[in-house]
Amino acid sequence: MNTPLLQEILGNASRTDTNLDGSSSFKAQTLNFGLLDEYSKREIRRAILTAVAVPGYQVPFGSREMPVARGWGSGGLQISLAIVGPDDVVKVIDQGDDEGVNAVNLRRLIVSSTGIPESTTPEDSTLIQTRHRIPEDPLDARHTLVLQVPVPEPLRGVERDMRELARMHAEADYARMWVSLYEDKVRNGVITRTTGYPCLVNSRYVIATTPIPRWDIPRLHQSEFLSLFGAGREKRIYAVPPHTDVEPLTFEDVPFEVEKTPGAKCRNCASNNTFLVEVLATDVRQSYWVCSDSDWCRRHRELSDSSSQGLMT
Ligand SMILES: [Zn+2]
Repeated sequence: MNTPLLQEILGNASRTDTNLDGSSSFKAQTLNFGLLDEYSKREIRRAILTAVAVPGYQVPFGSREMPVARGWGSGGLQISLAIVGPDDVVKVIDQGDDEGVNAVNLRRLIVSSTGIPESTTPEDSTLIQTRHRIPEDPLDARHTLVLQVPVPEPLRGVERDMRELARMHAEADYARMWVSLYEDKVRNGVITRTTGYPCLVNSRYVIATTPIPRWDIPRLHQSEFLSLFGAGREKRIYAVPPHTDVEPLTFEDVPFEVEKTPGAKCRNCASNNTFLVEVLATDVRQSYWVCSDSDWCRRHRELSDSSSQGLMT
């Protein structure tokens, strides 16, 4: 009995057999847009809406099994796939690098399951998924920043009991976090926390800004763009909506400072006002600094090359 539905299924099956090389017709007919089924997308979107309505609050969600292992960006990937639309352009970075193995694989997965275009330039992108960085370029209301989070609980270092953690957040009892920062300051002379620096969002919840460095934290404060944090392994989503206060926890007489190495500048583009990472050579005297944001570095290198050529002609 050949019903239209059965014919369609059989038709898809036969086309599937002839298109196992991964051509677009195979993907279009066998994969849901954005890989996730519509029920899963709705559930994740509801969690995102709650997270946006209560900035900084960690919303539990039913983290799905994804084609990447938990801890490898599955939380960020689920958010991206739940909110991506046909008009989006996606950019994925890993430690600021578009060509990192993790970034390439996640970008390929998003593009192949949606058919949307990809870009490495923030200006051309609308959906930016990232691990460890915010792009150096200014972002605006067109952008949604999705951050992959390994450890969403900012108080994990001072308390292990989940019920006590819930109580501390519910009562905004962050005294032990303050004590921990104070002990760090007394012991080391400075607050040594770098990535995952605790911040108070909207004067209410403390969040872990993991995995971005301190350099990027001022970018979250009163930002034009929406930031969504997804932890797939820990099954939590939280958000910093646009125009929201994000204040790093610090003491009145200990101002918050971003990372800065005096005299360091990028070996490729000579920038000294971007977040730089040190590349260690076997001979320590040959170690050098490069921009963490590889796309920003490449564009500025090209710009300076073309302007110097213009001067020569
Ligand atoms: Zn550079």
